[in-house]
Amino acid sequence: MLRSIKHRLVDLILPPRCLHCGTHVGQPQSICGECWSNLTFISQPHCITCGVPMPESASSESECLECISEPPPFAKARAALCYDQHATPFITRFKYSDQLQFAPLLALWMENAGRDLLAQADIITPVPLHWTRLFTRKYNQAAILAQMMARNSTGEYLPELLKRVRRTPPQASLHNKTQRIHNVKGAFQLHPRLERDTIKGKVILLIDYVMTTGATIRACAKVLKKSGAKKVWVLTAARTVLGD
Ligand SMILES: [Zn+2]
Ligand SMILES: [Zn+2]
Repeated sequence: MLRSIKHRLVDLILPPRCLHCGTHVGQPQSICGECWSNLTFISQPHCITCGVPMPESASSESECLECISEPPPFAKARAALCYDQHATPFITRFKYSDQLQFAPLLALWMENAGRDLLAQADIITPVPLHWTRLFTRKYNQAAILAQMMARNSTGEYLPELLKRVRRTPPQASLHNKTQRIHNVKGAFQLHPRLERDTIKGKVILLIDYVMTTGATIRACAKVLKKSGAKKVWVLTAARTVLGD
């Protein structure tokens, strides 16, 4: 109660502003109606496997051509937002600029997109950063999101399931899928401190902020599957929809 009184007092002195454009808003930690309406939230129908939006005429059980022709190592992937020019500033500011105030909002949107996954996963884990990158960025933002969502899930939060054993150039600096697949090949291993039985037969929910070609997430999912995970699911804040 004291906390909520304190928050109300702070709101009176400093009325809450849209996290994105700075316009006054009614609720702290939120965005204004205009910024909200520019975002494209992914809803049904989407591919039952990778979550990519499908044409309106598709059924809720449809699978996209890419998943049919080349089944991914993860069983399901879901994302809250289309990664377009309006979603990019949210992700970029959260990822690179220490703007952690975006975390609760992104986590909330991800919870809406992945409610069934969060309700059934055994373990929740982030895509890891290489330690040198962790040193310069200070946080693994995917881990912050994973930890927040784990509070509303029956799954156990295990941040050290995977280890990034090789520092790789950022995926965003590479222009095609083949380069990105090659870039992350062998970059992940099961964490050396992890007992192998921890993931045997478990459903693992892998968290990242964005899925573009999916090369990083596929590399992580392959390691988990090879190490005995029953299923790997993926939940990201955003995903690219066209021009992968
Ligand atoms: Zn705004
Ligand atoms: Zn698909």
